[in-house]
Amino acid sequence: MGSSQSALNFGAGPAKLPREVLNDVQYEFISYQNAGMSIIEMSHRSKEYITINKNAQDAIRKLLNVPSNYEVLFMQGGGCGAFAAVALNLINRTGTADYAVTGTWSGKAAKEATKYGKVNLLFPKADKPGSIPDQKTWNFDPNASYVYYCDNETVDGVEFPYVPNTNGVPIVCDMSSSIMTKTLDISKFGVIFGGAQKNIGPAGVVVVIIRKDLFGASHDCVVYVMEKVLQWIIKQGGVKAMQKQAEEKSGLLYKTISNSNSYYSCPIDENVRSRINIPFRVGGKSGNEKLEEKFLEEAEKLSMFQLKGHRSVGGIRASLYNAVSLDDVKSLVKFMEEFQKEHPH
Ligand SMILES: *Cc1c(COP(=O)(O)O)cnc(C)c1O
Repeated sequence: MGSSQSALNFGAGPAKLPREVLNDVQYEFISYQNAGMSIIEMSHRSKEYITINKNAQDAIRKLLNVPSNYEVLFMQGGGCGAFAAVALNLINRTGTADYAVTGTWSGKAAKEATKYGKVNLLFPKADKPGSIPDQKTWNFDPNASYVYYCDNETVDGVEFPYVPNTNGVPIVCDMSSSIMTKTLDISKFGVIFGGAQKNIGPAGVVVVIIRKDLFGASHDCVVYVMEKVLQWIIKQGGVKAMQKQAEEKSGLLYKTISNSNSYYSCPIDENVRSRINIPFRVGGKSGNEKLEEKFLEEAEKLSMFQLKGHRSVGGIRASLYNAVSLDDVKSLVKFMEEFQKEHPH
């Protein structure tokens, strides 16, 4: 095959979108619902756009059971913009905030927040991410405006298996790469945010779910494709179905890694392994870069793309967002098993 139609996209973000959504967008792109013009040519105050915006908000409320005392906002500025927005809007309440640094993105968020207030690290930064210290050992500041953590560290492959208990201090959570992959009790959170380009749409919009008493300023922006992805998730059976699928897909990949006699290895503690972004090395525990290069080359020959690990980590990373199917992952593990046979180390 080898046509772009059949590429298996394991990219970490921007990432794979459901084919059905792309077909739909293509079909109606020139003339949105027989309006004779494209949605991107219409006023943001047109009834068409206002309907898309409202439908996207409603779909998020429905998919995540968002209570009525929370607002759903669409903002610009990417996930990193939200690092600043969170601190700018919330840290002033007491001047200090608690941060759990479990990898690259929470590290950046903590650094950003130091510009606006005092940042208390809940535990010392590990030299190498890969574990999350027990909550009982965390150094909470009772005066903190909020407790911040990143649910799923996209670069490192570390995922929280629980929501921390903060004794009533509002929780701010970065869910850029895990939103819509598990059911949540939203009432435990003060703010949840996520850049769309990982799991729910194209780049350019950040979803913010915020408890109304924590409110700052809000902005609107275009959410056309995201709304379609959300409808697609509803059609697939909602977040529960996505969660089940995420467990199945990542389970298959981790099983392949652990059955490989250490040919493949994942450096992350088993209890905090991400179901979404799975980093691993090829050719032993610390990886064999030559073999990894070969791995990427041969994967591409089989139309499997974007498997290179983040430059700060190296190795391989497979991102298994909602649009990546179980069949895609089966193709990947089949390739991994064959590669191991053909390239013993
Ligand atoms: C990608 C990512 C970000 C940064 O998002 P941008 O939109 O690129 O700024 C932040 N947090 C997490 C968990 C991410 O995966």
